[in-house]
Amino acid sequence: MSEEKNNVKRIAVMGSTGSIGTQTLDVIRANPDVFSAEVLCAGNNADVLIQQALEFTPNAVVIANEKHYKKVKDELFSKGIKVYAGEDSLKQIVEMETVDCVLAAIVGYAGLSSTLNAIEHKKPIALANKETLVVAGEIITEAARKNSVNLYPVDSEHSAIFQCLAGEWENPIEKIYLTASGGPFRGKSREFMQTVKKEQALKHPNWSMGAKITIDSATMMNKGLEIIEAKWLFHLNREQIEVIVHPQSIIHSIVQFRDASMKAQMGLPDMKLPIQYALSYPQRIRSDFPRFDFINYPSLTFEKPDTSAFPSLTLAYHCLEKGGNLPCAMNAANEIAVNAFLNDKISFTQIVEVAEKIVSTIPFLPKPSLNDLIETDTASRVKTKELTG
Ligand code: NDP
Ligand code: MG
Repeated sequence: MSEEKNNVKRIAVMGSTGSIGTQTLDVIRANPDVFSAEVLCAGNNADVLIQQALEFTPNAVVIANEKHYKKVKDELFSKGIKVYAGEDSLKQIVEMETVDCVLAAIVGYAGLSSTLNAIEHKKPIALANKETLVVAGEIITEAARKNSVNLYPVDSEHSAIFQCLAGEWENPIEKIYLTASGGPFRGKSREFMQTVKKEQALKHPNWSMGAKITIDSATMMNKGLEIIEAKWLFHLNREQIEVIVHPQSIIHSIVQFRDASMKAQMGLPDMKLPIQYALSYPQRIRSDFPRFDFINYPSLTFEKPDTSAFPSLTLAYHCLEKGGNLPCAMNAANEIAVNAFLNDKISFTQIVEVAEKIVSTIPFLPKPSLNDLIETDTASRVKTKELTG
């Protein structure tokens, strides 16, 4: 390893072919003196992974689907890039001594094992994969505490809270407001949403994201997952977490302190900013991201979320309060139901109905072990598949 390379933060980009992964590579590309891509990992998209590896020449790549191993190896091995495949490799690659930081951007439950293993190997985590904290928040935060590992939020709302807390370490949070755009169906009734098609649900007004989180935004389950993510990241209880709809997505979230002061973080909606902050913390790096212009946004507006049209929020608050294995069951059911909706198996409103059913029928475990959570996840997936055909 050259002297020069030693000053650069070497990042394992888990989920490099996704929306967050490719934007992370944009940040790395723009700051070659600060960051390098040490490891790239993908699920299925071998072509994009190969292309990325040829550009960034990482030490190693992992393709989760072993079917693509030969193709990836044939393209990259001769370039001196190590190539691995399969779930075990995905989990183990984060242990590499030359990895300084793990950017966790695999979507869904699939991101849990690599993130937990990275924490156990004392790697700082830039966390996009909110499902990890929803499923196993207690285990993840306890492992992070034990191993003195920092979790730097990438999710824009949680990054906003984190940025508002800078310099406030001695001041307890009274309350946070997580802002929500309201998604494509803001202001619509439940009846309207019964017949919406996936093309409509996939059109987010402010953010361009992967398919799963875009549907989660349309059902507002994304905000439901985020209240649970916030509980664990900032040690909050139910009363301290409020959701407020802010359709312009300029204020990314707000912290209220005990003297009634409120701090908000704002800026144009662009995930590259929270990604870069999570990687560069505590420094801020100069960027050429477009700047906010007040004249283009003469009014920033706020609304109460409509929980009768969006029951996902009520369900998520219930899971947050009861805890145990319920958030894990809700997450598993939601992942399968979103997939079923995207494959035209169920209607849009059935996504949350199915999740409600799974949460109300799964045997409740108040203090689940990791194995209990794995079993809850599997059982919830099986039951949801039965319900969704
Ligand atoms: P995408 O669907 O765009 O990308 C998901 C990534 O995960 C892809 O690289 C995909 O690989 C990989 N992947 C999927 N399944 C597996 C698996 N079984 N094993 C290994 N890799 C896998 O998702 P996003 O980038 O939108 O989201 C990623 C995470 O970040 C999610 O948890 C989301 O909630 C969170 N997040 C995203 C935001 C956004 O703006 N997109 C904002 C805030 C949070 P491949 O495509 O090669 O199959
Ligand atoms: Mg978010």
